[in-house]
Amino acid sequence: MSGQGARELRKTWASYAPLVPLLLIFVGSLGLALAKSSALERDMRIAATQNMLWVVTQTQMENLMLTLAAGTRSATDDEIAQRFDLVMSRLNLMNEGPQARYLADIGHLDTVQLMSRDLLALDPLEHGHSPELHAGLFDFGLRIQPQINRIANDVMTTDWGKTAARLDDYRATQQVIILSVALALTAALAVSWLLLRNQRRLYLTQMERMRTTTLLEQERDSAAMYRDFAAIVSHQMRTPLSLIDSAMHRLSRKGGDVTAQDVQERRAIVSDAIGRLTRLVDTVLLLAKLDNDQLQAQFAPLSMCRLVASLVNEAQLRHPERALQFTCAEGPLMVQGDPHLVCHIVDNLLSNALKYSPCDTEITLRVFSQDGQIACSVTDQGPGIGQRDIPYLFDRYYRGQDHVTGCGTGHGTGLGLAVSHELAQLQGGRLTVYTCEGKGSVFTLWLACAHPDTAGDP
Ligand code: ATP
Ligand code: MG
Repeated sequence: MSGQGARELRKTWASYAPLVPLLLIFVGSLGLALAKSSALERDMRIAATQNMLWVVTQTQMENLMLTLAAGTRSATDDEIAQRFDLVMSRLNLMNEGPQARYLADIGHLDTVQLMSRDLLALDPLEHGHSPELHAGLFDFGLRIQPQINRIANDVMTTDWGKTAARLDDYRATQQVIILSVALALTAALAVSWLLLRNQRRLYLTQMERMRTTTLLEQERDSAAMYRDFAAIVSHQMRTPLSLIDSAMHRLSRKGGDVTAQDVQERRAIVSDAIGRLTRLVDTVLLLAKLDNDQLQAQFAPLSMCRLVASLVNEAQLRHPERALQFTCAEGPLMVQGDPHLVCHIVDNLLSNALKYSPCDTEITLRVFSQDGQIACSVTDQGPGIGQRDIPYLFDRYYRGQDHVTGCGTGHGTGLGLAVSHELAQLQGGRLTVYTCEGKGSVFTLWLACAHPDTAGDP
């Protein structure tokens, strides 16, 4: 693993490290809250079953009933025996398990055990029913009644104390539960925040990585583009330079036999080659400025007719063999544009028309206005442009797949239309193409009118 990979892994671990204590706090607090609430519930259940006061009150009542029965002549032996059993069973209840422990705590267990023993000594089943036994039971009942009352009082007082202490405990437990739940919630919130923060960081890192990749790809693309550019441009420069070179060689080889016609012919070749070189250098310079955002259009109101007319005249001088037609619609037809850039575009369209259409066909340039815009169209009767070429026509370095040489040499860099398109956009205009295979093409430059009110449709 690379050093940077290991560093990133360490960073990721570090960002997730606080999760462990937070999760422990969450689970611990929740566990504590659960344990406390189940203990509370158990405690309340036990408290309900340990109602000592009820047992004592029952014993008190049964003892009263036995005393009454034993002191009344009308009570039957069975009735007295039954009452005896009930009191005995209540005393036995008080002498067993939690009740016995309770009584021992409040110091009454001995008293109750004594009561049981004394009562057992008066068991009618064992001794048989007699007035003496009934009188003994009556005395016993009267004797223990105040003792049971005292026990009941003490139980009540102890119960109140215990209830108060238990309520305090419940309150404290409740507070612990609330605190634990709050802590668990805080830990859960912290965990969520941590996860969200890490997620966001991850997203930002990925975005940054994607941006870097895109920049790298762009860098690679532009490096490849400039490599192509250098190859194409140097190739295109070599052709006119070798034309100039061979023209000069031929003249020097002729020595003193050079005629005026020879000079005229060579001059035409050299001037054509220089024109091509100039156009190439011009395109390259414009391209460099466009790429560096250094090209600022110097806007001024221009007479489109005058500008195109002078370009047509110059082209006609360079190509006297070609038939160039120029028409200009009525009106001032002033555009808002940069004269140098507009000249470059129209010159480019015209040079394409000259290059790609047969020498014996006519080229027509028209200046007119339409929909508040001024247009300059260049129409040729060349081969037209194939449908598959049209989408890429304004791409840099794109050359038609099966372009025909027409009247030109067929050389080109594939930059002319791309640069013209960008220059038109720079001036707020556009370049359109209409073509019909086998019949010709119409390239039109559209620019904003300098005085919209005076621009009329043809
Ligand atoms: P250069 O950079 O020297 O102008 P180029 O003429 O090849 O080179 P563009 O002017 O951009 O480059 O033209 C791109 C392609 O469009 C040409 O290669 C050609 O195939 C096609 N094309 C342009 N104008 C015409 C036209 N009037 N008729 C037919 N095809 C054309
Ligand atoms: Mg061209």
